[in-house]
Amino acid sequence: MNGPETMNTPEEVLPGIFRVEVPLPGSPLKSINSWVIPSAEGRNLVVDTGMLRSECATVLLAGLAALEVDPGRTDVFITHIHADHSALAGVLAVRGATLHMEHAELALLRDFEDRERFFAIMGELGRRAGLSEDEILGAARLHPGVKYSPPKTPPIEPVEAGSTFAAGRYRFTAVSTPGHSPNHLCLWEPEHRILISGDHILGDITPNITSWPGVEDSLGDYLSSLEETRKLGARIALPGHRTPIRDVAARITELQVHHEERLAEVLRILASGGPQNVCSVASQMTWDIQAETWEAFPLAQKWFACGEAAAHLDHLVVTGRARVEDDLYSVLPPTR
Ligand SMILES: [Zn+2]
Repeated sequence: MNGPETMNTPEEVLPGIFRVEVPLPGSPLKSINSWVIPSAEGRNLVVDTGMLRSECATVLLAGLAALEVDPGRTDVFITHIHADHSALAGVLAVRGATLHMEHAELALLRDFEDRERFFAIMGELGRRAGLSEDEILGAARLHPGVKYSPPKTPPIEPVEAGSTFAAGRYRFTAVSTPGHSPNHLCLWEPEHRILISGDHILGDITPNITSWPGVEDSLGDYLSSLEETRKLGARIALPGHRTPIRDVAARITELQVHHEERLAEVLRILASGGPQNVCSVASQMTWDIQAETWEAFPLAQKWFACGEAAAHLDHLVVTGRARVEDDLYSVLPPTR
């Protein structure tokens, strides 16, 4: 037997905490972890879901059935807005589950439900970065939030940092971890020192940090969140993608070093190339993408690369190491 059901049999990662690996066909992320904590009495807890795709729904529903989790007795906690975490939740809501998401993140999700508005925001960000109209249109059409989200956001209960969720032997508290998204929440279980980390901390891939409309310094927020997370002293993190992280403190340090190196790289690019836009900086950064040239980058990846470059540039501006004028960035103090 090696059908999709057996390939995705829920794995008990910690006593009473199961990982349902929901596939994301065609995505470099490969899959998303839906963390499931069944309760014999009281309510079950599911953290993050998948995209609104039949491939995702089949596996998640089969996983819940295998664990005898009744959606009608289940709370679904959504760590953040991204479609791979949030978009499938409505499929559980129609089966009776109660959905939960940070209140400002929920407002953003509802705001982006207006696709014209979403495209207008993407257009403005893309133009400022220096992408062409064709590139912006292509990236917008390919955006997972457009392709794999429901046209209408299902009913979701707004929550905030400090909200608690009890399931099985565990009692989780939502903790604020902005950066990867503007109002990202993790779930923290202080007695067993378990962190369900969404996309705040990932193991063998680096969380994408991008610029967001209305956020001055996403990367600064992210670096602060990493420090706050370090203080929790988690002994294990259960991330949104790939496998659990056993040495959380070491992984936090790796992520901090990664961004320091990226910031240094961006400063070098600015120093050698003079004032330039986000797209120009992104085209000179190093990326783990199989493409010979910047022009050959897949469009979706180009969009994310520009977002990441912009987040690093914003942070350099906010911390006084670069300046921006007419969307062109340069080092401070001027090199000549
Ligand atoms: Zn995400």
